[in-house]
Amino acid sequence: MHEAERIRDAVAQIGDELAETLAAAIRIPSINPAYPGVDRESVLGGEGEMARFMAGIYEDLSCETTLFHVEEGRDNAIGYFRGYGDGRSLILNGHHDVVPVGDPSLWTEAEPFEGKVDPDRVWGRGASDMKGGIVAQTYALKALQLAGIRLRGDLILESVSAEETGQYRLGTGAAIERGVRADAAIVAEPSGPALLAVGPCSTGLLVFRMQVTGRATHAGMRGSTIYPGGDGYDLGVSAIDKGLLLMDGISRLENQWSRSKRHPFFPPGHFTIMPGVIEGAPVGARIPYYVPDSFAVEYVVWYPPSEEPEAIKQEIEGFVDALARTDDWLIAHPPAITWVKDTPGASLDPAHPLCQELLEAHTLAARNKPEYLVEPRIQGFLGAEETIRFQQAGIPAINYGPGDIRLAHAANEHVMRDELVTACTTYAIFAMRWCGFDMVKTTI
Ligand SMILES: [Zn+2]
Repeated sequence: MHEAERIRDAVAQIGDELAETLAAAIRIPSINPAYPGVDRESVLGGEGEMARFMAGIYEDLSCETTLFHVEEGRDNAIGYFRGYGDGRSLILNGHHDVVPVGDPSLWTEAEPFEGKVDPDRVWGRGASDMKGGIVAQTYALKALQLAGIRLRGDLILESVSAEETGQYRLGTGAAIERGVRADAAIVAEPSGPALLAVGPCSTGLLVFRMQVTGRATHAGMRGSTIYPGGDGYDLGVSAIDKGLLLMDGISRLENQWSRSKRHPFFPPGHFTIMPGVIEGAPVGARIPYYVPDSFAVEYVVWYPPSEEPEAIKQEIEGFVDALARTDDWLIAHPPAITWVKDTPGASLDPAHPLCQELLEAHTLAARNKPEYLVEPRIQGFLGAEETIRFQQAGIPAINYGPGDIRLAHAANEHVMRDELVTACTTYAIFAMRWCGFDMVKTTI
C-alpha cells in the first residue's frame, strides 16, 4: 500500500528524534505521589511537568492543546488535531506517571531518570510503562504530517496522570468527564511479552485485606499456648500462626485457579491470588517478646475479564470462611476481609472493527519484520489498564504498545527502539485508515 510505505519512510526519518524525545521525557521524574511509602511532597508536580512537556509537543504539531487537573500538580494534557472532514475520530491515550524506582542499587545499566539512549534501546523508569507508548503515539501524528497525509476525522492525543495508583478519576476518567470522546481509543500499555500484540481485553483486578486477631501474652508462654497440657487459647493465641494457616489455604485455592480459570487470550496460570504486603506483630509493640495478637495481609487478585467481580469476591470469602471453620480459634474469631480495590477487566469482541483494523495496521507496519508477525497476534493485557474506562463510557477501546510488562515496575526498565518505531508506524497507519485521509504535497 503506497500510503503505508510513505508512513514507514516518515517514521524511519524521525526514529532518532523519537528516541531522544522519549529520553527527555524519562528525565522528568514523574513518580505518582499517591503511593503509600512515597514522600508525596517531594514528588508531587512531576506529573504536571510531564503534562506540560507533552503539551509542548502537541502544540508543535499544531494541535489545540488543553492542560487540566483535578488535583493540583497532577495535570493531564490533551492535544486535538482536527480532521478536515467527517471521518471517524480516534483517541490515542497513555499515562505519564511512573512507579517508584525500587532499590536504586539494582539499576546497573543506567540511572532511573538518566534517559540513556543506546543504539538499540532507551533506558529508564517509564521507558516501557509507558512514556515510550505516549511518545510513539504522538510521533504517529508527526509521521502523518511528514508523509503528507491529511486526516478526515479528529485525532486526539491524551497524556494523563494518576494511572499507576488506579485513580482514573484524576486522569483518563477526568478527560471522559470533560466530554473528550471519540469513535475509538487505543491505550499504549506495553504489549510484551507478546511482542506488539493487540490487546482487546485485560485482567480484572481486586485487592483485599485480611485481618486476624489473636491473644497476647508473654513470649515465654509460647509452649503453654500451643502444646497439650498447657493453658492453650485461654492464655494466648498467635495471630501470625492463624494468619499463615489461612494463607496456606489461599495458596491452594490459587493453585486450583491455575487449572480452573482459563481465558483464550491469557497464558495458562495467569489468574492468581498473591499476597503482596504482610504485617504481623503485637498490638502497640513491634517486638517479638509477646505472642503476637495482630496479623494483616494484602492480596492482589487477577481474574478473567469474563467473570464478575462480585462472584470472585464471593468465591474467595466463601473459601476463607470454610477454612476458618476448621479451626476452633477462628470459628470464634473469624478473619475480617475488606475489599480495597476493584478494577474490572476490559473486554472487546476480537471481531470488532477496531481489533481487526488494528491487526491489519500492525501487519502493514511490521512488513518485512517477521519477529512481529508471530502468532498469536492477540493477547490480553497481563495487568489492569484503562481501556475499561473507555469501554464503560461506550467508547470501543483496545490496548497496543511498545515495551514489555516484565520490565515495567522492575530495575533496568527499557524499551527497544525498533518496537517504538514499529508501534509508531502502526498508530499512524491505523489513524490514516480509521479516520480517512487525503494526500497533500510533501518534500518526501
Ligand atoms: Zn502503565
